Amino acid sequence: MTTMPAIFIGHGSPMNAIETNQWTSAWSEYALSIPRPRAIVAISAHWFIGETAVTSMTHPRVIHDFWGFPEELSNFQYNAPGSPELGRQLAELAQPTVTRLDDETWGIDHGTWSVLAHMYPEADVPVVQLAIDATKPIDYHVELGSRLVPLMNDEVLVVASGNVVHNLRALAWGSDQGYNWAQRFDRDAHEIMISRPDQLGLLDESDDYHLAVPTPDHFLPLAYLAGMAAASGARVSTIAEGCAMGSLSMTAYAATL
Ligand code: ZN
Repeated sequence: MTTMPAIFIGHGSPMNAIETNQWTSAWSEYALSIPRPRAIVAISAHWFIGETAVTSMTHPRVIHDFWGFPEELSNFQYNAPGSPELGRQLAELAQPTVTRLDDETWGIDHGTWSVLAHMYPEADVPVVQLAIDATKPIDYHVELGSRLVPLMNDEVLVVASGNVVHNLRALAWGSDQGYNWAQRFDRDAHEIMISRPDQLGLLDESDDYHLAVPTPDHFLPLAYLAGMAAASGARVSTIAEGCAMGSLSMTAYAATL
């Protein structure tokens, strides 16, 4: 039987959607190395709301949730189909968590399309997005992630998209490295992800946590991959490693059965 991995991508700047660089090349090469999925469940840092929800429209709109970038980016289109059926399947898997089926408010945001534009540039794989409940702690998301394991045996690729380290106030534009604290937190996260992903929640006790994760939106997508890896016994490896602009980690992970 064909099994799918699950992945976490550090998406970084929205400009990555239209640029080609070491990170985007790693994403596109990775997509070519795995079986083609029948559909994608995307868990993006940019759908961070007060509940668990999943998109269930046939034609999700493309959301441009950023300001101050070139017109080429504001006009960027990624017209992948949705899948109301997969939305319902996801809501069932998530039980007892109550998941709202969203057929009108959200769509595909840039946390998702900046990555998928490189992985599946034809936009021909159906995409649903799972919202991140901002009111819940890390362990809640690890636990919810563990319930998504059946997707790995159902030809569905889970793409969690955020950044392990994401501090926009500390950005060092033009730098292709990370501050010491950013590199240290990225390494600590790596150690946990490859050896004991069920314990990802311990990272909020790290001295670097408040600098690396000033708000949890970009960190929490990693919790879904951690939960899937822990519950399935999948092997965790990196797709890309390292920091950029001082305070962003671009590290990306795959959990492979
Ligand atoms: Zn982002």
